[in-house]
Amino acid sequence: MHSPEEHAVDCVVAGAGVVGLAIARALAQKGRDVLVLEATGLVGSDTSARNSEVIHAGLYYAPGTLKARLCVEGREALYAYCEARGIPHRRTGKLIVATSPAETDKLAAINAHAHACGVTDLQPLSGAEARALEPALNAEAALLSPSTGIIDSHALMLALRGDLEDCGGMIAFNAPILSGEATARGIVLDIGGPEPMRLSCASFINAAGHGAVPLARSIAGLPERAIPPAYFCKGSYFTLSGRAPFSRLIYPVPEQAGLGVHLTLDLGGQARFGPDTEWIDAPDYAVDPRRGDVFYAAIRRYWPALPDGALNPAYAGIRPKIVPAGAPAADFRIDGPAEHGVAGLVQLFGIESPGLTASLAIGDLVAEKLG
Ligand SMILES: Cc1cc2nc3c(=O)[nH]c(=O)nc-3n(C[C@H](O)[C@H](O)[C@H](O)COP(=O)(O)OP(=O)(O)OC[C@H]3O[C@@H](n4cnc5c(N)ncnc54)[C@H](O)[C@@H]3O)c2cc1C
Repeated sequence: MHSPEEHAVDCVVAGAGVVGLAIARALAQKGRDVLVLEATGLVGSDTSARNSEVIHAGLYYAPGTLKARLCVEGREALYAYCEARGIPHRRTGKLIVATSPAETDKLAAINAHAHACGVTDLQPLSGAEARALEPALNAEAALLSPSTGIIDSHALMLALRGDLEDCGGMIAFNAPILSGEATARGIVLDIGGPEPMRLSCASFINAAGHGAVPLARSIAGLPERAIPPAYFCKGSYFTLSGRAPFSRLIYPVPEQAGLGVHLTLDLGGQARFGPDTEWIDAPDYAVDPRRGDVFYAAIRRYWPALPDGALNPAYAGIRPKIVPAGAPAADFRIDGPAEHGVAGLVQLFGIESPGLTASLAIGDLVAEKLG
């Protein structure tokens, strides 16, 4: 059997999601020669197309973690990038709403926590003050986050791709990385798809989202500690028929694996609710209409006027978790040579929310790790 010819490239990034694209752009802007290999025929068709499109302020992460730092850094970088590149976005602000006295106590803790993460602009509101902003709201009290916003994530990815290509970088589509090997002359990769080939590269960045753990497992020569386990936590969304009742994003006080059934808006003004949390064994993006029953109860706590039958199953995304249900939230894992000892390799695992917000900051961090 004839084996594919081997080509050499400087840097390969696995995955053309928002994170892979931001990394590829950062490396190309530093003068590296970058090739992105994407398994599908599209940019950002997996988790980067299946999220809330919220620019998070960075309130909830444990202080000192990558999530906390990269969210705050990435958020400001993202707003500046959107302004510079004309990417549709809006600083809508968000209200975190307490609907019981027990939840009201939690708001003060959220505010203190946010301060520890460097987010100092939260404004505590009474129920009456919150209703003055959003008359349809049921609230005992609320926190207003003025630096939360929304973004057109596809326009962002197109801009990142444009910057990459302007610096001479390329994306190869329908080019799944099937396996690889860490060798003394760099990482050698076997690429499948219609044009199979073998590539060797000085730097390899595994930003394959849900594909990152299986891809790491398929690379011979990586130490066991370089590969975390993978778990899937699905989040389903429902859209609202009719006009959005709020002009800001509305979040309940958060729950353990996610942020609770919140209301976000897209730039066209469509309101959507979700994502909920459902631990699953394997990726499956179908939305079960029956999950809407739980949504009605959760939403009516902060929006009692939600009409019966107003929610329509929309889409689902899956959080790429590296710890199982019930475990404390894990930080992003962005492992470079200092963490696993393999020269030229950076692997990204568990890049769930706020990965979109943090994408530009993640790009800079990865470029730094590769010197
Ligand atoms: C329900 C939900 C809501 C979210 N909401 C928000 C939010 O509001 N704000 C926010 O900041 N973040 C949010 N996030 C997080 C954000 O969406 C992700 O962090 C981000 O999209 C991850 O991007 P990525 O590039 O790492 O992964 P992906 O977008 O999944 O891209 C990975 C790419 O790698 C490709 N690939 C996989 N395997 C291979 C292989 N072997 N070879 C080549 N290519 C491969 C895939 O085809 C895919 O295109 C949310 C996430 C979820 C699940």
